[in-house]
Amino acid sequence: MHGLMMDMPLLVSGLIRHADRNHGDTEIVSKTVEGDVHRYTYREAHARARRLAKALAALGVRPGERVGTLAWNGYRHYELYYAISGLGAVINTVNPRLFPDQIVYISNHAENVALFFDATFIPLVEKLAPQLKSIKHYVLMSDRAHMPKAGIPNLLCYETLLEQETDAYEWPSFDERTAAALCYTSGTTGNPKGTLYSHRSTIIHAYGAALPDALNLSARDSVLPVVPMFHANAWSLPYTCTMVGAKMVFPGPHLDGKSVYELIEQESVTLSAGVPTVWLMLLQHLGANKLKFSTLDRTVIGGSACPPAMIRAFQDDYGVKVFHAWGMTEMSPLGTVGTLKARQEKLDKQARLAVQAKQGRGIFGVEMKIVDEESRELPWDGKRFGNLMVRGPWIAKGYFKGEGGDPLKDGWFPTGDVATIDPDGYMQITDRSKDVIKSGGEWISSIDLENIAIAHPAIAEAAVVGVKHPKWDERPVVVAVKKPGQEVSRDELLKFYEGKIAKWWMPDDVLFVPELPHTATGKLSKLTLRESLKAYRLPNT
Ligand code: AMP
Repeated sequence: MHGLMMDMPLLVSGLIRHADRNHGDTEIVSKTVEGDVHRYTYREAHARARRLAKALAALGVRPGERVGTLAWNGYRHYELYYAISGLGAVINTVNPRLFPDQIVYISNHAENVALFFDATFIPLVEKLAPQLKSIKHYVLMSDRAHMPKAGIPNLLCYETLLEQETDAYEWPSFDERTAAALCYTSGTTGNPKGTLYSHRSTIIHAYGAALPDALNLSARDSVLPVVPMFHANAWSLPYTCTMVGAKMVFPGPHLDGKSVYELIEQESVTLSAGVPTVWLMLLQHLGANKLKFSTLDRTVIGGSACPPAMIRAFQDDYGVKVFHAWGMTEMSPLGTVGTLKARQEKLDKQARLAVQAKQGRGIFGVEMKIVDEESRELPWDGKRFGNLMVRGPWIAKGYFKGEGGDPLKDGWFPTGDVATIDPDGYMQITDRSKDVIKSGGEWISSIDLENIAIAHPAIAEAAVVGVKHPKWDERPVVVAVKKPGQEVSRDELLKFYEGKIAKWWMPDDVLFVPELPHTATGKLSKLTLRESLKAYRLPNT
């Protein structure tokens, strides 16, 4: 027997309609490419999104077609999120930091019919346009005054398109399983693969992300997504904030420590979210200028492992709670968040920090398990580590156009991460499966070794990689960047490890470098690092 409740489809357009009605005068503030600050409300954003939907239809964009963006976090990008998905088409947010040939590949693979881009990317689009086969319309996300004189043929102006339309538009209703957004993973090898989110998965994920033990968002928050809207939908914040009516503050391209700090202060930001590298810049700016936060209450850190030293700095030095989060593009992206249970709130500081350093507990909607090489499930004892598998209504079951075949194993999505899970359900990533260091038939966690190096007061950033060893297969080597003006020797850093790890985990060497390579999504690029160490030999081998 079926229940007798309404079958209202869960659609992305419903979010912005709700925000307009219930939080119509709540602000959306954006630092623009040009450097000034733009502010308006959910009501105005909704009106402009409706005009944009009509403009897209007038350009010939049909439901199911893909529309690309190359853009920073800002109000026009936000309008595109709603206008494109709202009319039943699919927004393909392209990461402009990828290599140009990857951008070309993605645009052609997605068969994007139009490309919307920020002024920053005019030179890039000019260069790539001859190779972007499917694009019929190029639209600069700017006004008439900022249109370039030459370059891209038939270039359209975003504001001119909007001026031609009224906001008399009703969002269409359709099946909630319709595709809403397409985001390609920045695979380290092979071509990027597209994760195709549905309206249903996006809405359910937004509910999950707003929960108190997830991002804990409400209409009392002012939220600064530093995490880009071109990377896993800015961890769903453009949807979740709209759902709960939080004020949104978009940083545009201005992601340096000073700009982020000033925006946080000026807009009374209570919650911010981003990858550790961005927070590193912010903490350095605060430290160097002896600054404090006046409103920032919590920060979500994920995308790569958040070093405990960073959690400690935020909490102890600046009074900002850290939510360590883990997820991936294929998971919409939220999987786990590291909030404490009542019992753990009573622990001493060090023990609390140990819990927070883990990536956290699964949000309802994400089931997890860890398995060994033979796919046998491993216990949740916080010690055994294995391949992490997930399943749930906001997790991908395949890639766009079936690329890479069926990724699932017995209905579970293999994350490619290696993790432990403790009896309280806290998952801790020990490595990407391809980064784990295999020594003498056992595994050494590169993340654990990196966290220790970063806890040293003279170290700004560190990566640990496995280097070939004739007897042990691989041995760990620390590659570290010193803080400006600080000194530490190889032997001092190795001594710092003593007593903190098992003897056989002890790194064989330390190399100091001026900087470490990062990927287009701000993660350490171990692939590039390993390449650069090709000629390197371990001591005594
Ligand atoms: P992406 O799809 O680009 O967001 O990358 C997802 C991958 O980033 C995951 O599979 C993890 O390897 C890594 N990752 C994300 N969050 C964390 C975290 N908090 N700690 C460690 N690794 C993380």
